[in-house]
Parts: sequence; C-alpha cells; structure tokens
Amino acid sequence: MTAYPTLQMLINGEWTGTGGAGTMAVVNPATGGVIGHCPKAGPADLDAALKAADDAFPGWSRTAGADRHTILRRAADLLRERALEIAAVVTAEMGKPRAQAIGEITGSADVIDFLAEEAKRRGGRLIPTRGTGLIAQMVTHEPIGPAVLLTPWNFPINLPAKKIAGALAAGCTAILKPAENTPASAQLLVQCFVDAGVPRGVLNLVHGDPGPIAEHLIASPVTRKVSFTGSTAVGKHLGALAASHMKRFTPELGGHAPVIVSKHADLARAVAMCAATKFRNAGQVCVSPTRFLVAREIYDSFVADFAAAASKLKVGDPGADEAVDMGPLAHARRISAMEQVVADTGGNRGEVVTGGSVIASSGFFFQPTVIANPAPDSRFMTEEPFGPIAGIVPFENIEDAVGIANSLRYGLAAYAFSGDLDEAHWLGRSLRAGMVGINQLIVSSPETPFGGIGDSGFGSEGGEEGYLAFTDTKLVMLAKAGG
Ligand code: NAD
Repeated sequence: MTAYPTLQMLINGEWTGTGGAGTMAVVNPATGGVIGHCPKAGPADLDAALKAADDAFPGWSRTAGADRHTILRRAADLLRERALEIAAVVTAEMGKPRAQAIGEITGSADVIDFLAEEAKRRGGRLIPTRGTGLIAQMVTHEPIGPAVLLTPWNFPINLPAKKIAGALAAGCTAILKPAENTPASAQLLVQCFVDAGVPRGVLNLVHGDPGPIAEHLIASPVTRKVSFTGSTAVGKHLGALAASHMKRFTPELGGHAPVIVSKHADLARAVAMCAATKFRNAGQVCVSPTRFLVAREIYDSFVADFAAAASKLKVGDPGADEAVDMGPLAHARRISAMEQVVADTGGNRGEVVTGGSVIASSGFFFQPTVIANPAPDSRFMTEEPFGPIAGIVPFENIEDAVGIANSLRYGLAAYAFSGDLDEAHWLGRSLRAGMVGINQLIVSSPETPFGGIGDSGFGSEGGEEGYLAFTDTKLVMLAKAGG
C-alpha cells in the first residue's frame, strides 16, 4: 500500500504535526493495528484556525467567481490524478473496498466541478417593481462567512469535498473537522485544494475530539455557518448549540430507508440491485436501503434470493485482497450495535435467515445479515442499523407498505420497485423522504440536492442547493435619487 501519511493539521496555510491537545491513534479496522498518530487541536489551535478563516474571508469573498471556479476545478483534477493513492488510504482508514473508494473519489471530483461551475454562473434575480419611484429590486446570494464543516468517516472524501466545494465556491472560508478515524483521507483531499492554489487561511483543517472542538468552533463569533453530517443524536445537540448562537446550521443525519417491492416489480432485477446496494460500504451509508417491504405474493422468493446473494458476498480485508465485496465495519462500536440488533430477534421477533454473527478476527467484521419478518417494534424496525443488516417484511396491500415505510421519524431516502406506471408515480408521491428512488437505488449525483426531513435533518447539500447553503439572500431596492 501507499505509505500512510504523517498526520498534520492545516492552520493559516501552514501544516503542523503538533496540536495543543496531544495525539490520538488511528486504527486500521480490518486488522485492528495502529497505522498512525494524529495531532489533536487544543483551544489555541482552534482560535488560530478561526482567526485565519476570519482574516481570509474578505479577500476570498471578493475574489471573482470565475477565479474561484478555476482554483476549484484544478483541485478536482488533482483529486482525480491522485485517486489511486488516496483510495489506498481510505481503505486503510475505514475499510472500504478499493473499487468503491476509487468510485467515491472520482465522484467527489465531479461534485467539486459542479459546485465550482456554480461560482461562475450563479447570479441573482431582478424582481419587477411596483410604482415608478423604484428602479430595481435586486436579489443576490452573498457568502455567509467562515463555515465550520463537521464530517463523518463513511464517505471520508465525498462528504468533506461536497462541503468544502460548496463553501469555497460561494466565497466562504472554512474550517474542516473530519472524523477521528479518517484524518489522512481528509488531509489528502485538503492538500489537493492547497496545491490548486486556495489562498492561505481560506481552508483550514483541524483534528481531535469532536465534542469539545465542535463546541468551541460553533460558539465563536467568527463562525457564521455550521454544516454537520452524522447521527441524529449528535445533530440535535449541535443544532441546539448553533441555534443558541444564532448560527445557520445544515444537518444531514441518519436514515432507515424503506424499499417497497410491489408484486408488479421485476423480481430478479429488484433482488440483484437490493442485495448489491444494501451491503455496499458494509451498510454504513445514510441512504442505504434497509427495510425491505415486499408484496406477499413474491415474499418467499425475495427472501430466499436475497439471502442467497448476501451469503455469497466475499468479506475480508480490502487492503490485502482487492476482490472482497465487503470490508470491516469502521470501529468496534458498530460491531456491538449489530449484535444488539440481532439479539432482538428470535421467536416472533424475526428470523435470522443468513449471517447474524461477528467474524472472528483482529478486525471489525460482521457477516452480511438478513432478518425475515422482524417485529414492528423490534430494534431493527425502529432504529437505524448503519451496518450490514437487512430486514424483509411481507405486506398485503401497497397502502399498508407505504404506512410502514412512513412510520419512522427518519426521512432521508426511500425506494420502491414497480413495473406499473400509475403505481410507480403514486409511490413516488406517497413516500415521505427527502429523496425517493423508483426502480433504482441511487439518489445522489453532483447536480441534485441531497438532504432529508424529520429526524434525518433539514436543508440540502449537493446540486445548486449545495452552493446556496453557504449564502445569505440579500435584497437591494434601488430608487431614483430625486425628482
Ligand atoms: P458517532 O456518533 O460516535 O460518530 C459519528 C460522527 O459524528 C463521527 O464522525 C464523529 O466525529 C462525529 N461526532 C460524534 N460526536 C460529536 C460531537 N459531539 N460533535 C461533533 N461531531 C461529533 O457514531 P458512530 O458509531 O461513529 O457512527 C454511527 C452513527 O453515526 C449512526 O447512528 C449513523 O446515523 C451516524 N452516521 C451518519 C452518517 C451519515 O452519513 N448521515 C455518517 C456516519 C455516521
């Protein structure tokens, strides 16, 4: 593998390997071995990053959109050029199979490209005036100010890339705090922006304990915007904090995506797509298809075929074998979460059809698991598993399925398969979620908004919304000077 980088923070354009709060070990989840030590930011480091972002804001926000576009496009190109090297680090840090890591990185470059182009083309609008005294009513989108970007480990390139590119394209400066277990992935991404010519202080990178760092950065008067991707519990906590300081906040939180498979669906296609997508990234995807609601007529076949596909997946260390389908979970906490879900099965609470156990090794491996007919109040049906566990529930009529799908407080992604055009349209309208996929399981692209409702958060990042998320809307009403 490419050598694991020496871990550093970037503050005001200077890389530093020491932080005021000591260091933390980074562990390869496939082996359990320590692969590096990361500096942890203390209050003085955070204050220096805040000052840098504040000082750089006037210059960057006044830089022409076309020039911001040029720099960001160059960063995207560097990310593509370095994709293989960065993929090896992503795999080592969080266990994503190599092909999936490369796909994430090249897809992130496309996201940066799109948001960079927004810097060039995004204008405001002119609203017709009432009366003759007014000359113009102009609406513009102004960069909001220094932004704090808090990102998790499951997409250690894509999520920071989307937030950094949205912020910088809009003219904001930023401080990125990536997940504790994927610091090098973030560092290599940030290096692309630095090498592309992002000026000193515009983008800063700090590592360390998420709670104290988030609290310090959010409370600072310098910070104008907070963007967080992670769990609902942490999102609620940070949202309350942001509200108490009157800061704009975009939370992209957990999900427990339902998939309705109608009797009119193409069964073979639905099973193949569902089984392949469910276990991607070991199920650690906020839009992962998870609660499969299947028409009674095809339920037995769906369960048998889905379980057969799951049991054939090759699980192993993706750093040692590029052919594995599924790597480890990110850390030991995810293993105990899976065990708790499985423990709440048996009897009339659901049947484990395949998997259900830890795979003995020094890493954090769990079998691809399928639970048939989990009880409505079971842990599986009510809590986001965020791991390689699928549950399959039969339904008698499609209205019941929509009722089950919409029964949780989450509302990130929802999916349905149906070959009946009217039914497909009706399902698209009836499912309560920020993103709905019909006859396919992809709900994100560089051009489209990404975000949830309910306990899955609010607001969108991605698409033009990903640019607007870092702007304030401003109205200028211009009247005649006299006469
Ligand atoms: P976790 O809550 O310990 O950590 C998840 C992420 O949140 C980490 O990146 C961490 O840095 C950050 N975090 C934790 N506490 C924080 C705080 N007080 N302030 C700021 N950031 C904080 O959970 P985990 O076991 O690592 O991950 C599983 C859970 O996280 C799941 O419930 C899942 O919903 C959620 N998650 C969601 C996404 C997503 O894409 N929406 C991604 C990763 C994790």
